[in-house]
Amino acid sequence: MKKIGLLFMLAIGLYSCGSVPITGRQQLNLVSDSEVLALSLQEYDDYIKTAKKSTDKTATAMVEKVGRNIANAVEAYFKATGSESLISGYQWEFNLIDDPQVNAFCMPGGKIVVYTGILPYTQNETGLAVVLGHEVGHAIAKHANERMSQQMALQYGGAALGAILGGASAGVQNIGAAVYGLGSQVGVMLPFNRKQELEADHLGLILMAIAGYDPNQAVPFWERMSQQGGGNLELLSTHPSDNTRISEIKKEIPEAMEYYNAIYGKSAAPAPSATPPKNSNTNSNWHF
Ligand SMILES: [Zn+2]
Repeated sequence: MKKIGLLFMLAIGLYSCGSVPITGRQQLNLVSDSEVLALSLQEYDDYIKTAKKSTDKTATAMVEKVGRNIANAVEAYFKATGSESLISGYQWEFNLIDDPQVNAFCMPGGKIVVYTGILPYTQNETGLAVVLGHEVGHAIAKHANERMSQQMALQYGGAALGAILGGASAGVQNIGAAVYGLGSQVGVMLPFNRKQELEADHLGLILMAIAGYDPNQAVPFWERMSQQGGGNLELLSTHPSDNTRISEIKKEIPEAMEYYNAIYGKSAAPAPSATPPKNSNTNSNWHF
């Protein structure tokens, strides 16, 4: 058994090594992009058919505008680094859904959904850019693929590898069913792990900077978020605590500012102090 395990790990190393853009972190990548995209598009279609789109034209336009800016930042980054092929299957869509939950998500492939419940916390375009940068960060880091790959390695071991190398996708489909959809409320994948959440924060800061939003604003946004519902963002056990998240973000802001200053010059405004939202809403099925 040990020998098989070793061979499996070696084969993973040979065939299934990926790395996250910008951070360069090595990650397990056993599932093809096309399979992840097919699964997530199915989930997205099912969700969006029944979701209630916001009738607030101004807010909807703001989500589309900020989403487009973040998507443009992604495309500019991948083009500048000669790695456009990594996002070749992406088709961006931006939706504002009438839902009181304080949340947002981006499916693999660039389908972005923002709930109206988070708008009192984002307050403006820059706050929204923090959220969308984070969500798009999950997508470009292929965190869903990584989760599925980790599940496959755990549950299927060598059989999964055999299926992948042999081109069969039954194992992928089964894991897809387990990781996506089932057990979730809105067709979003199961929560990411803590490392992925912090990585999405990091990527989000850089994407918002490239898009022309001041990354310093991420701190007051997360401070506002930490005030909601008594400051509990730990509804799911894998979520980073507010303090960990904010202190990591503070450490990463100088890196994001290098991008910002290189593109826009050194004119970023200082971060204003956080203002608690008036319209407090504690119904939070928290994804971040
Ligand atoms: Zn997240």
